[in-house]
Amino acid sequence: MKKALIVIGIVVVLLALGAAKLYRQMPQKGPPLIDLGGGIQGVLCRFSYAWIVPSDTGVVLIDAGLDETAADIRAALQRRGLGPEAVRAILITHGHGDHFGGAAAFPDAPAFAHRADIPLIRGEVKRPGFIGAIFGKISSRKKPPARLAPLPEGAEIAVDGITFRIIGLPGHSPGSVAYLLGDVLFSGDALMGRGDSVMPPTSFTSSDPDQAMASLEKLRTVPFRIIANGHTGAVFEGHAKLEAYLRNR
Ligand SMILES: [Zn+2]
Ligand SMILES: [Zn+2]
Repeated sequence: MKKALIVIGIVVVLLALGAAKLYRQMPQKGPPLIDLGGGIQGVLCRFSYAWIVPSDTGVVLIDAGLDETAADIRAALQRRGLGPEAVRAILITHGHGDHFGGAAAFPDAPAFAHRADIPLIRGEVKRPGFIGAIFGKISSRKKPPARLAPLPEGAEIAVDGITFRIIGLPGHSPGSVAYLLGDVLFSGDALMGRGDSVMPPTSFTSSDPDQAMASLEKLRTVPFRIIANGHTGAVFEGHAKLEAYLRNR
């Protein structure tokens, strides 16, 4: 009896340590709305950000949150006097449901994602690993965008008068990308903030954590200052913080 209690005690402690470790890796969500100037706004959709970027005749979205009704995004558009039809394009950072789910609410807007993540978005492949499978169960229930197309092969995409640079950052998913506009890097889950520093994607939600880390090295030569990411919001002086993180890890 006593032995059994000791074993149960050890198991409970190990589970608690494991849960604490997972929790420490989880990104902490930022404020509901973030204004970056120039009309660029981050909208927290429950726990992931969509970013609204003004374009020539409407707006472009970077990601669209988890919620298939995109209620938070539509409310943010309404505050600008815009309806859902003002969304000219959706640039998806990667094929996880918490980033593309809301695209279904904008059926007229073409949605772009890296070719390597399109099978994930369409639900044709599963996310690897045990925790990936759990997350994948949630993601796979998300409808793919009505007008889904692969990103162009080149290093840029031009939508409604704005040109974004595309930076491939595989690792969190095979087709994770960031979009650079001016000094703002829309990084999805590939690079986020933590306290006064930055963090890589959580390893247990990534398809290849080592590759995700290697992808961060690529960002050293990219001239960004603000990291507008998928879960923690905006990181200012983001390039300097990334350099410091890579030096010290
Ligand atoms: Zn993700
Ligand atoms: Zn995410």
